[in-house]
Amino acid sequence: MESNLHVYNTLSREMEKFEPINPPFVGMYVCGPTVYSEVHIGNVRTFTSFDLIYRYLLHLGYKVRYVRNITDVGHLLDDSEEDKISKKARLENIEPMEVVQRYTVDFHDTMKLFNALSPSIEPTATGHLIEQIELIEEIVKGGFAYESNGSVYFDVQAYSKNENYGELSGRNIDELLVNTRELDGQDDKRHPADFAIWKKAEPQHIMKWHAPWSLGFPGWHLECSVMSTKYLGATFDIHGGGMDLKFPHHECEIAQNKAGYGQDPVKYWLHTNMLTFNGRKMAKSEGTGVTPRQMITGDHPLLTQAYSPMTIRFFMLQAHYRSTLDFNNEALQAAEKGFKRLMRGVEDVQQLTAEPTSSLNIDQWKADLYTAMDDDFNSPIAIAQLFEGVRYVNLIKDGKEHLSASDLSLFQSTFTGFIHDVLGLKSEDEGDDGQVDGLMQFILQLRNEAKERKDYSTADSIRNTLQELGFVIKDGKDGTTYTKA
Ligand code: AMP
Ligand code: ZN
Repeated sequence: MESNLHVYNTLSREMEKFEPINPPFVGMYVCGPTVYSEVHIGNVRTFTSFDLIYRYLLHLGYKVRYVRNITDVGHLLDDSEEDKISKKARLENIEPMEVVQRYTVDFHDTMKLFNALSPSIEPTATGHLIEQIELIEEIVKGGFAYESNGSVYFDVQAYSKNENYGELSGRNIDELLVNTRELDGQDDKRHPADFAIWKKAEPQHIMKWHAPWSLGFPGWHLECSVMSTKYLGATFDIHGGGMDLKFPHHECEIAQNKAGYGQDPVKYWLHTNMLTFNGRKMAKSEGTGVTPRQMITGDHPLLTQAYSPMTIRFFMLQAHYRSTLDFNNEALQAAEKGFKRLMRGVEDVQQLTAEPTSSLNIDQWKADLYTAMDDDFNSPIAIAQLFEGVRYVNLIKDGKEHLSASDLSLFQSTFTGFIHDVLGLKSEDEGDDGQVDGLMQFILQLRNEAKERKDYSTADSIRNTLQELGFVIKDGKDGTTYTKA
């Protein structure tokens, strides 16, 4: 299969021609969420970026196996840290699997709201314990890991004799050794840069399994090595995740695969950039860890209004996946307008009628659209090209330009097909011609009138009924807004 698609490969740090190993099959693995809390909107950005990539590959005709895991155990950055799922279960006095179930369901609901396609396989770390233990055995057998007090550590120095630990992240091993020397709980390690692939459980630790070394649990990086290899083969095409996973997570994955399976696992490493909120890093501890629910209801001190999932999705796609993206009210409000304009184009394009000849070059317009996406999934340029399409629609509507029947049909199918299938954007009041919005404005006006005459029981009753029907009402400085939950 021929493809002009070029991707920026983090490993080589250059654009390379996209050449799938077994065309037209593409294997893609993306690190999924750790299910101990609601995902934040930054996580959604990363998963939306890979949804765009998945959709475009499918659109080009590739047969894609998209694997995105669920991390339901052992997310340990520092070897002395407590597993976040166990911690949550302990604090709430529930089973770890209840934590996992709650937030896995929540994650699926959230991604559906943002119109993301489900992956082909969604494996869990706890479902692949046997394979993880087998990989550890292989790594130990090869001399790249050692047991110490019931835990097993990857031996970075042994590995570095013939391999370059740091090849993906660009980190220098000597610097790493200096910088990690001060960490606690390193006594069992031969070297500070070594990382745990099996950890002996402390007596109070809840999630633990029997393994040849101890009753314990696997290191976080191990699951992705095992599950990507199991479902995509020892070498596959695309591995994705956020930039923050480059080190140590992905660097360790490469090392584990090479040491245990003897193969370089990934052809193209793709990393999404971080989403910030009002210029600040998205972090729960700083009050900037905004959840999708807060965005959709507007229930956050930094938000002046609610934003619909499609506005948020559109806003995210307006930035290239490798650029940072800042969420702020002004930019989101502009995106809301832009999204509506684009969707009006989708409605209007269907109403256009053909003429005997064409005054616009639709072939060129379409070629430019695909060239943008072929250039490392450059969605902002593609969206600009779609807005050029909106301009065409309006010119044709006004009788200033015209298209032949075949050009019009190509224009209609490309324009709407791209917006729906590749960008995954859909109209929010599809099918009702704005009737719902009209009705809602009317009901909200009745509610405001009730509030003005201090009839709060009627006002609350209207709000509660609307909420039961799936509408979220928000009273803000500039009036009352609603969104569909
Ligand atoms: P986690 O559940 O923490 O492993 O994160 C799930 C995914 O979201 C990973 O690919 C992270 O790299 C990504 N991620 C975390 N924070 C952000 C952020 N602020 N912006 C974009 N992606 C993020
Ligand atoms: Zn991973």
